[in-house]
Amino acid sequence: VFWIKNSSGPRPQEVHKAIDTENTKHENATILSLCRNEDLNGIITSIQNLEDRFNRNHKYDWVFLNNVPFSEEFKTKVSSMVSGEAKFGLIPEEHWSYPSFIDQEKAKQERERLASMGIIYADSESYRHMCRFNSGFFYKHPLLQQYKYYWRVEPDVDFYCDIDYDPFRLMREQQKIYGFTISIYEFGATIASLWDTVRAFLSINPEAQHSNSLVDFISDDNGVSYNLCHFWSNFEIADMDFWRSKLYEDFFNYLDASGGFFYERWGDAPVHSIAVSLFLDRDKIHFFDDIGYNHGVYSMCPLDDNVWINNRCSCNKDSDFTFRGYSCGQRYYKVTNRALPPNWKEYAD
Ligand code: GDP
Ligand code: MN
Repeated sequence: VFWIKNSSGPRPQEVHKAIDTENTKHENATILSLCRNEDLNGIITSIQNLEDRFNRNHKYDWVFLNNVPFSEEFKTKVSSMVSGEAKFGLIPEEHWSYPSFIDQEKAKQERERLASMGIIYADSESYRHMCRFNSGFFYKHPLLQQYKYYWRVEPDVDFYCDIDYDPFRLMREQQKIYGFTISIYEFGATIASLWDTVRAFLSINPEAQHSNSLVDFISDDNGVSYNLCHFWSNFEIADMDFWRSKLYEDFFNYLDASGGFFYERWGDAPVHSIAVSLFLDRDKIHFFDDIGYNHGVYSMCPLDDNVWINNRCSCNKDSDFTFRGYSCGQRYYKVTNRALPPNWKEYAD
């Protein structure tokens, strides 16, 4: 109290207020985190990070979803970190369980088969429920009904730069539907029959593919085969109206009926990426190349020094994954005729 009374500079609260009146223009949007009670420390890290870099100036709500009830400790600690309203939801059982058409004995055998191949999460049932939920159900949760846009945030991610504009506003003003930061190849064994299933869907829905789609990002032979490229879905800023459309609903149900979420280990990242790359006009997809970001071992760090300095980035450009061999970044630049950063080769393999 003494320090605040005698401080000559603006008080922290006043600084926040000044920013608020200039920038706060709420879009119909929320930040969204699916997590477990055990993820408390990891999600606190992510919240603190995104609040400091962005949300404290905007105060968007933050929705937390879990397949079991959140603990009181989780709710109390997380609420203290979120500048907007923090909302906690329980996932309905029908969105996180085996559908009746799944042969659970077969699913078990297939998990063992994938595990013997050394595939990550091969033996996990919960991981499969998670991927299926993120593919076809999260946007149906009651807490999300009022929102159009969401920003997906996982535990233990890092935002490396100040975000001095509102990405949700960009989405609306530029009529974008799907935004990403990192793209990467999938492990083929996890989705062995996915592309055939997608092709079967397209053969009975020949109008589904958009005439100006981004199919060349996910296929090198105009759709005959899948090249395993996908947008890394641990970061997504997207318009839920697309997931809520009849086309996507039909697509998800078709995939789901084949059993691949359980008999293989289909990820929500390839499912989302294939859908947006086939069904949307390619101009609806946005690369947030100025949102420095880290998840696990991969990062996106702006290579443009003006962006890096102006946004007070804290990442090492050497860590940027965009142009590395295992990234699909070079392909994305190529198929979208996007101007490469002049120094990109220094950050390629
Ligand atoms: P990875 O990024 O593919 O390695 O997978 P993660 O373990 O990070 O899981 C992806 C997201 O789903 C994260 O936000 C996790 O917190 C969440 N998640 C994963 N498994 C579960 C689960 O069993 N229950 C809940 N509530 N969330 C989960
Ligand atoms: Mn993760």
